[in-house]
Amino acid sequence: VLELQSVHKRFGEQAVLRGIDLVVAPHEVVVLIGASGSGKSTLLKTVNLLEQVDDGRILLSGEDITDPRTNADAVRARIGVVFQHYNLFPHMSVLDNVTLAARQVARTPRAEAEATGLALLTRIGLAEKAGEYPDRLSGGQQQRVAIARAIATDPELLLLDEITSALDPQLVGEVLDLVRELKAAGSTIVMATHEMSFARRVADRVVYMKDGVVVEAGAPEQIFGDPQRAETREFLSRLQ
Ligand code: ATP
Ligand code: MG
Repeated sequence: VLELQSVHKRFGEQAVLRGIDLVVAPHEVVVLIGASGSGKSTLLKTVNLLEQVDDGRILLSGEDITDPRTNADAVRARIGVVFQHYNLFPHMSVLDNVTLAARQVARTPRAEAEATGLALLTRIGLAEKAGEYPDRLSGGQQQRVAIARAIATDPELLLLDEITSALDPQLVGEVLDLVRELKAAGSTIVMATHEMSFARRVADRVVYMKDGVVVEAGAPEQIFGDPQRAETREFLSRLQ
């Protein structure tokens, strides 16, 4: 689904991504871990074309999306994204938030988009909130709606960046449960998280990044149970 080939990105003097190679297979869940500033969010942004790469290529289902002739909006329409904060439009109902992309980008008729949107809200247990404004929902409910919105147009790829880090601890579980459901339903996901217990439970592959490079990648049992690189061991031991 996704292939990063030697991706480089710098901000001024600072090299933030220094040659990232990463292949994400269909239905795979890849979790990026690493210290603050290691480049996780920047990597996700290059995939969503919110940041331009300086060197290297990114292929989405075989198409080079870093080609300057690429239509960025068309690419973004194929990718669902959820960030840490501010995912929902505050002046729109929950249902309108969920159906907006289908109506405006995919040009789905309103009735059809709303039927799909209500089915999605039912799936995440929030059908009764369809008519509410986002600020009437808990943080965990808002993030679940944000995820529902991201998957409403059935994207090829889902990018999740620290989607639980602004939540109270008791609300984290419901959001993570939803991600596990998406995984079970076959979504392809790349997510950045500081929640190691979640990375361990949901990831097919964990990618440890440091200073803009992939230090080590492997199955969660390997990365958490038997890391091969000294840097990985050091990073994980500092979290205990
Ligand atoms: P965190 O775990 O804190 O979210 P991260 O791994 O997501 O960290 P990034 O947000 O990718 O890290 O940032 C990597 C580096 O790039 C940081 O040093 C950051 O200050 C820098 N950076 C990110 N975005 C910009 C920008 N738009 N302009 C300048 N520097 C930036
Ligand atoms: Mg980040």
